[in-house]
Amino acid sequence: MSVEEHVPLARYTTIGTGGSARFFAKPETLEELHASLRWAEEEGVPVETIGLGSNLLVHDDGVEALVLKLAGELATAHVEGDLLVAGGGATNAVCLHRARAAGLGGFEFASAIPGTAGGGVRMNAGAYGREWRTVLVDAVVVDAQGPRTLTLDELDLDYRHSGLKAGEVVAQVRFRLEQSTPEAVKARAAELLAQRKATQPTNKRTFGSVFKNPEGDRGAGSLIEECGLKGHRIGGALISPRHANFIENADGASSADCIALMIEARRRVRESFGIELRHEVQFLGPLALPDL
Ligand SMILES: Cc1cc2nc3c(=O)[nH]c(=O)nc-3n(C[C@H](O)[C@H](O)[C@H](O)COP(=O)(O)OP(=O)(O)OC[C@H]3O[C@@H](n4cnc5c(N)ncnc54)[C@H](O)[C@@H]3O)c2cc1C
Repeated sequence: MSVEEHVPLARYTTIGTGGSARFFAKPETLEELHASLRWAEEEGVPVETIGLGSNLLVHDDGVEALVLKLAGELATAHVEGDLLVAGGGATNAVCLHRARAAGLGGFEFASAIPGTAGGGVRMNAGAYGREWRTVLVDAVVVDAQGPRTLTLDELDLDYRHSGLKAGEVVAQVRFRLEQSTPEAVKARAAELLAQRKATQPTNKRTFGSVFKNPEGDRGAGSLIEECGLKGHRIGGALISPRHANFIENADGASSADCIALMIEARRRVRESFGIELRHEVQFLGPLALPDL
């Protein structure tokens, strides 16, 4: 197992901001992953995992941890009967490709979610009325003690939430899909992607939804938009003129710029509607939003 030091993380995130990982490794097998986790425990170093960094904001000063990015066989996917078996680091695009080739449907909702199978478990990612827990059977989760298989119930998935604990890494996921045809899967995925492109800034650097939708019928984007914040800019970051629950890296943004926009959006929504927005984007390093 090789551990690199001081590896810049901005290129591993879709927003493209943030500093370096103190330690960084790309385990390619379950054994390498377990060895990395044991190493971190022995060294007393916390562990963080990144997928495609598509819902991630990294502190500008970096993160004092071992950051893992699953690769090799931990980033592949294959089909067994009606099961799609994906490494935790397999991208949703690869998963969908394998499912489509095998004529399995039910994963098309993930076509517009630019993450990995493991990141999707952590976030219970979802779109268009479906989410990870709709299709997930179980997941192999690894910590310094070794791998164990957690059932859907044990993973405790809820709206953009899972019961995974710090330092637990999703190494493999099994999804149960439905019989379909490659043509039908392709057509459905294309339809959902077109819907997505019509409403969201898909060709900009963002980290997806900034805030979770609060309870009630108003989405976070609509509340922020009503505060007049679409297009509001701090430093190189801007609240997307296309969808107000997205922050774009318009021009050399820092993570601090993104946080400043989040603070402003939360303050204004609280003032106008009495609603406290909670962030969906995950923080790496000592980032936090102050109490309102
Ligand atoms: C343009 C765009 C559109 C998006 N649309 C949607 C959408 O419709 N629905 C939606 O739910 N999300 C959406 N997202 C957000 C994001 O794609 C999802 O949350 C995705 O599931 C994150 O996966 P990831 O692999 O990139 O995880 P990362 O962003 O890398 O990490 C997110 C969290 O998961 C953890 N994590 C990552 N991999 C693992 C692993 N193997 N084991 C344990 N923990 C892990 C990280 O530590 C972090 O806490 C969008 C993002 C973008 C940029």
